[in-house]
Amino acid sequence: MSELMTTTYSMWRLFRNCRMACKWRYIDELVPLERDPNLAFGSVIHDCLECWHGERDLAKVLDHIDRTYPNRAQDDHQQADWHLARAMMSAYAEHYPAEAFEVVALEKTFEGPIVNPATGATSRSFILAGKVDGIVRQDGQYFLLEHKTASQIDASYLERLWTDFQIILYAWYLEQTLGITVSGIIYNVLVKAKLRQGKGETEAEFEARRAELIAKSKTGKSSAKRKLAEDDDTFQQRLQEKYLEPGMFHREVLYISRDQFEELRAELWELSKAMLDARRRNTFYRNTSYCFQYGRPCAYFQLCRSGGNPNVIENHFQRIAPHEELRDGAGEDAAPVF
Ligand code: SF4
Repeated sequence: MSELMTTTYSMWRLFRNCRMACKWRYIDELVPLERDPNLAFGSVIHDCLECWHGERDLAKVLDHIDRTYPNRAQDDHQQADWHLARAMMSAYAEHYPAEAFEVVALEKTFEGPIVNPATGATSRSFILAGKVDGIVRQDGQYFLLEHKTASQIDASYLERLWTDFQIILYAWYLEQTLGITVSGIIYNVLVKAKLRQGKGETEAEFEARRAELIAKSKTGKSSAKRKLAEDDDTFQQRLQEKYLEPGMFHREVLYISRDQFEELRAELWELSKAMLDARRRNTFYRNTSYCFQYGRPCAYFQLCRSGGNPNVIENHFQRIAPHEELRDGAGEDAAPVF
């Protein structure tokens, strides 16, 4: 393979974490048929935020959400995500009626060489490409805007932002591409409310509960009424009230230390050399410490366990060209299958 291969930080991170997973995704181009619903929701919110920060037109954002979930009347997952996305974005628009920053660019892509920082030599095998959610200017300084959806924001979540090396490396590439100095990152965090729409009782469930209450009652009677499903308006109202509570939206600004650029570029160079070697010798070893990294099996677990059985590939995977996140309309969250 002598042509220049486009890479992303997601690919290098996966290569560092488990070389075999990297091979499944980026060499064999395999993606599980079933995608992680959390990633899909994050991707929808990225699209909504791009629309909101571009035009500040909530009606357009809500219309986009409606069109994203066309089968919500029949599909409980779509219905739940539709409610959450509408409540989250409506409350977001209210929470940030004006911004202290000015938007310079949204969903900005870039591409650049991978360079040996010690010698200035450029890789003849790989280039790095990426996309940032936004570039903004505040008080005369440039910042990258990075959207995150989170289950909760606590001290450890904010601490972990320090390890987000991808965005720092991207800042370096954008500086080279645009000729600007990036002072830091504004993390725009939106919390996913955990409320669920009340489902109500079936006739049988109600009868069972009523019989239990009657058995406990001294009079042998019960005035219990069947619990009805919560209607859409009531649930949407409840969700929007949840978003009025403090801590549902958070902005964290991290300033970039220039030393980090050199360290990360050096790491990237080392990874690119290791990848060349793995590719040349076709040796992508497995890191089994990573198989359950996020409290669930890795997306390629079945495949690894079967030793790459073609039937498993046929029935559970599809082939999709890598770096989906670089294509129009895809947020970075859409990229990794982990
Ligand atoms: S199942 Fe484990 S060894 Fe296999 S690709 Fe995933 S993390 Fe790597």
